[in-house]
Amino acid sequence: MPNSLLRQIPKVDSILESAGWASLVSACPESIAKDVLREHLDSLRLDIREGRVVSVPSIDEIVTAVGIKAAALIEPGLKRVINATGVIIHTNLGRSLLARRAVNAIMRVATGYSNLEYDIGKGVRGSRYDHCRSVLRRLTGAEDALVVNNNAGAVFLILNTLAEGKEVIISRGELIEIGGSFRIPDVMKKSGAVLREVGTTNRTYIEDFERAIGDNTGLIMKAHTSNYRIRGFTHEVPSEKLVALGKRYNIPTYYDTGSGLFYNFEGLGASGEPLIPEELKKGFDVVSFSGDKLLGAPQAGIVIGGEGCLEAMKKNPMTRALRPDKFTLAGLEATLLLCLDPDSAASGIPTIRMILEDKGAVAKRARRIASQLRKECPDAGVSIIDVDSEVGGGSFPDMVIPSVGVALEPRTMTIATLEAKLRRLPLPVIARIERERLILDVRTVLTEDEGDLVAAVTAAFENGR
Ligand SMILES: *Cc1c(COP(=O)(O)O)cnc(C)c1O
Repeated sequence: MPNSLLRQIPKVDSILESAGWASLVSACPESIAKDVLREHLDSLRLDIREGRVVSVPSIDEIVTAVGIKAAALIEPGLKRVINATGVIIHTNLGRSLLARRAVNAIMRVATGYSNLEYDIGKGVRGSRYDHCRSVLRRLTGAEDALVVNNNAGAVFLILNTLAEGKEVIISRGELIEIGGSFRIPDVMKKSGAVLREVGTTNRTYIEDFERAIGDNTGLIMKAHTSNYRIRGFTHEVPSEKLVALGKRYNIPTYYDTGSGLFYNFEGLGASGEPLIPEELKKGFDVVSFSGDKLLGAPQAGIVIGGEGCLEAMKKNPMTRALRPDKFTLAGLEATLLLCLDPDSAASGIPTIRMILEDKGAVAKRARRIASQLRKECPDAGVSIIDVDSEVGGGSFPDMVIPSVGVALEPRTMTIATLEAKLRRLPLPVIARIERERLILDVRTVLTEDEGDLVAAVTAAFENGR
């Protein structure tokens, strides 16, 4: 029985001569299509021998199956999605969206040559580390600045440069873990620095730091507790006191501020995130922060501080391993230039704009989306509800931003099925389930994506019938 089935499998030549094959290879390189066909026929033969397949598919059926597999192979795995979660700096969804100015700057250096490492004035070799330096100095008042691949890299580089083989004193309440298994104690070990934790989880005093200072102290470190807050019976050493202690004993002080805040959100009642220029003014020798959190720039780690520390870092061979590419530098510089003027930052940087968008404006967009969905999706109950958006990215963990969502209640499938269908569309929509409804938080849905969102939800309901 299997042998006679095996003989009925269409010959490769006749598949390659079929009309279906011709249209398949017009959309996909033939070499890939042929590889997929060979694999497909091999697995078909195995299925027949092992009794899993009891009738032989037609040429058209084979070509269709190969077409689907080949299309999946040549489709990029990294793709655009619609973020309907309401989490603005969503680390799993790519953190910050770039300002148009940043994208244009990246395009220019991507499609043309640039002075990445060329000094145009002198006509000699220049340094890529010079590019964001002047705008960072202007924004923060720092003597010098250095951009590396990300803030985790910056933390490593600072510890390795300033404290290899030496002790780094840090409060027990600040031994943080950021998502993706980045833990201060582990990075410290890898950097060759020795962790000297002082105080307790909830209370640390300047005397704790002072008592720990010894001959082998290399650095006093402060880490922003980005993604949590310690409340209640607590005591934290103010930055000014740490800095003064460092100066008294001639030990450098370093603050890992995490998010990279330049825009003052105080009008929103938001507090607790350190503003970069203010922190540096308190006298830290080095401050580091991320590019793609509240700054709203590409992924980067930014180090600012005194010339001495930064020169030593630039000479560290690890700096070469952590160096940013020209796209990062171009996008970061353009974003920093927008930060020179708060109004330009508020209107031009998507991360800032989304945090600031007024609830009434979000509600108006939600009503527009809901009214289209009511027309296009008769199988869904559509309502408008109040929700809370989050900043995300371990920034402002306490702050809830009042927002508006479109809630969907499917009548023809379960809520979990709808959520999965939306996720698996060619343009995936990522949403959350709350109280038996699928919630689309409109704050993180771009105005220009509203049409695509309606089309996506409509498609999810149509192939649900
Ligand atoms: C996010 C964060 C980091 C890691 O920064 P990346 O840019 O994600 O590498 C380090 N320290 C603190 C305090 C952070 O919040």
